[in-house]
Amino acid sequence: MKRKMDINQLVRDNVKNLKPYSSARDEYVSDGSQMIFLDANENPFENGVNRYPDPQQRNLKALLAQQRNISQGNILLGNGSDEVLDLIFRAFCEPNRDNIITLPPTYGMYKVLAEVNAVANSEVLLTSDFEPNVEGILSKADENSKLLFICSPNNPTGNAFSQEKIKSLLESFQGLVVVDEAYIDFSGKESWVSHLKQYPNLIVTQTLSKAYGMAGIRLGTCYASEEIIAILNKIKPPYNVNELTQKKAYGRVADTATVAKEVSTILEERNSMVSLLENLDFVEKVYPTDANFILALVDDAPKRYEQLLEAHVVVRNRTGQPLCKNTLRFTVGTPAENKMLKAILNQLQ
Ligand code: PMP
Repeated sequence: MKRKMDINQLVRDNVKNLKPYSSARDEYVSDGSQMIFLDANENPFENGVNRYPDPQQRNLKALLAQQRNISQGNILLGNGSDEVLDLIFRAFCEPNRDNIITLPPTYGMYKVLAEVNAVANSEVLLTSDFEPNVEGILSKADENSKLLFICSPNNPTGNAFSQEKIKSLLESFQGLVVVDEAYIDFSGKESWVSHLKQYPNLIVTQTLSKAYGMAGIRLGTCYASEEIIAILNKIKPPYNVNELTQKKAYGRVADTATVAKEVSTILEERNSMVSLLENLDFVEKVYPTDANFILALVDDAPKRYEQLLEAHVVVRNRTGQPLCKNTLRFTVGTPAENKMLKAILNQLQ
């Protein structure tokens, strides 16, 4: 059943009343004719990037919309998903009044963005099997809880959360539920993007930084109801996704075969890394993963981290995170890198 919700009630007053900046290219609609552009104070000499980019990134959105079977009005693009997340804070959270709910151990930017935006961060720990504590979350929420961040598959634990638990949060939480699917393409799980019509409070974020192999171009994607996207569009910087990124991203998103092939190699490598880690004496547990990284519980994380660094391998020491004492997070590398890593790990004393 479709959930009913008044999204307008969740929007900050200043955003509701805002008249957005109208850029030169927003005011002109192309009918395909050859035009002389004297509207944006650009340098007229062609070099490929002398013109401002399309502020609405229409070509790229058309491709994403077609692949995901949604409309362009359900999509917002940003300078990495970190920009998208920041826009969500600024549209919906009143500084020094509202709060968000996060589920540690999880991606650290939610907390940082809460601090930057002067919004309180209410933390509800995951359970010992790294699942959301649904009752705990709902009892912690109050009338100022605007956003709930669900990272699935979760960073740094690697697991995708139970679909049933996410569903019950989408049905009961009174604010917006942001499902961060940065690692969804490694998981084999269905994206929540196909449930946008059912849940008007759902925002899904994804990124080209992981499976798509484009961390360097900074392209984050956000999928939500047309109403939510229109609100975020009001406050986004006019030209937030540059021309080079739009072009490069288009080529990569269209090249589904290459992305699928790389993901499949990464998954094969992940499985062989899991077997190796499971058989090492100093590894006590390897957590189940639906992502392109593996969280492992070791005897002494700082010691193993330093030993790996000395062998010129950088992993992430997650020992300071709640529920993650003595854990290291290994990103899956290329087959050649993993071969070297295996040799190094087998020699650690
Ligand atoms: N969400 C999660 C869960 C992440 O792990 C990361 C990056 N490590 C991001 C979002 C940010 O991605 P982007 O490169 O698109 O800003």
